Amino acid sequence: MPDAGATVRDAPATGRSLLGVFPHPDDESLAAALTLLHSAAQGVDTHVVTCTGGENGENLAGIEMDLPMDEQRRVEMAAAADALRLSSHAWLGYRDSGMVGTPENEHAEAFTNADLDEAGLRVAAHVRRVRPQVVISDDAKGTYGHPDHIMGHRVTVRAIELAADPDAQLEGAPHVVDLHVSHAIPRGELQRLHEELTERGLESPFGGDDGPGDFGTPDAEVVTRVHAPEQADGKRVAMLAHRSQVGEDSFFFNFPDDLFQEFMGVEAFAVVSSARPLGEAERSALATDLFAGVA
Ligand SMILES: [Zn+2]
Repeated sequence: MPDAGATVRDAPATGRSLLGVFPHPDDESLAAALTLLHSAAQGVDTHVVTCTGGENGENLAGIEMDLPMDEQRRVEMAAAADALRLSSHAWLGYRDSGMVGTPENEHAEAFTNADLDEAGLRVAAHVRRVRPQVVISDDAKGTYGHPDHIMGHRVTVRAIELAADPDAQLEGAPHVVDLHVSHAIPRGELQRLHEELTERGLESPFGGDDGPGDFGTPDAEVVTRVHAPEQADGKRVAMLAHRSQVGEDSFFFNFPDDLFQEFMGVEAFAVVSSARPLGEAERSALATDLFAGVA
């Protein structure tokens, strides 16, 4: 049975709340650990909803595993939630859809086959519960195109509409989200990382000469960069909590210290929607702070 409940922990009450909606357990740590830790350190209540159980993940790190993958990933997610000092974590209850063209994709409970309104209502219930000013999800491309990541974006957009709609079939008072952002991997920075690694004779994840190509987010679309190098070690711990997915020998932890600090100490975001018009002044205020302009 999916666990729809949430573990509420103590958190300082600043009235600020951040909700991340992520398709699989580990996405929150890979995409937003710095921002979650940095926000929690500033007294923001941080909440994560994980849409699927990640049950089709492979044992990428090659650990010894006594548990079936779905149970393993629940244990890992609980450890990551602790490492991230989340105010709450909740499971949305869908199944991991696997990669395009695999039988897992056809499963009736696969997230990619979910009814948009039904899934939107499930997320919207969490929006009304935690009343975030800022919501983080994938972008419309699903960041790297995985069907669950594309669905994560669509469901979050729908949930934000439903949470604000007084006629929606939902408990709790309507809630308007100030800012919906997608986590971004700025293309220019990927290109620079690729060049740095290649110049030093180290292996680039983008292979030989090609570089990242059109992977990542065009730099012009990136609105916010959260700089929090002091949380880079915390991000590492949160990523490693997903033991079957991220090992010590992972690419992320094996580039030179200066590059690790530079590239792992910052997370970038693009705007999906905003409740208020974002002119030049508002965008420049958002450059380093997702909560800029929030009352
Ligand atoms: Zn994922």
